[in-house]
Amino acid sequence: MGGIGSGRRYKSNERRPDVEICPAVDLRVLKPHLGSDVLVEQKIYRNNSLNYKFLIDPSDAKEGFIAVHFRHQGNHQTQQISLTEMPCHLGGSRPFLLCPECREQFLVLYLKDGAWACKHCHDLAYRSQRLNPRKRHLHAIQKIENKKLKGAPPDEKPYRMKSKKHLAIVEELAAHHIAHLKLAQKWHHDLKNKYFSKKPDNKI
Ligand SMILES: [Zn+2]
Repeated sequence: MGGIGSGRRYKSNERRPDVEICPAVDLRVLKPHLGSDVLVEQKIYRNNSLNYKFLIDPSDAKEGFIAVHFRHQGNHQTQQISLTEMPCHLGGSRPFLLCPECREQFLVLYLKDGAWACKHCHDLAYRSQRLNPRKRHLHAIQKIENKKLKGAPPDEKPYRMKSKKHLAIVEELAAHHIAHLKLAQKWHHDLKNKYFSKKPDNKI
């Protein structure tokens, strides 16, 4: 038996349930509880019976994190998830969860294989990513810049990183940029063909 999310691949006309079957911390649900000393219990039901439950401790939200208590392979685990504040253009700010893997902001993080991360890092959006390679490349670029390059510009080597490693990371980054550029060129080319082709069957 595979773990959560290790199931079969779904055809394009089927709804892929992976995101739904993974336990989730949803900030939209959690927001009213932030700062409270009361643990928030989250239960997941399958076929009308309790399938999984975990607890969220929102009491340290002012300190910039929440703690999630959950079980993985029979062991009790706790993982802290950082909160960030994003200023709103009308004033005030909105809280977000920081994905521990890619350091991007999300409203929902998922549990898979004993770790909490965003749906991209857990590869939960397989079908939409396959259908939308542009987003896949953009996410990969963000992830490399935030995590591997630690936010430094690509041409500045992070402190104490070996040159060889830095070059390998930048090569990986460049490959995603180039693939992204090729997609843009293809859209442009295809659209020009579609709109300006002389073929009669392309006329309206
Ligand atoms: Zn992530």
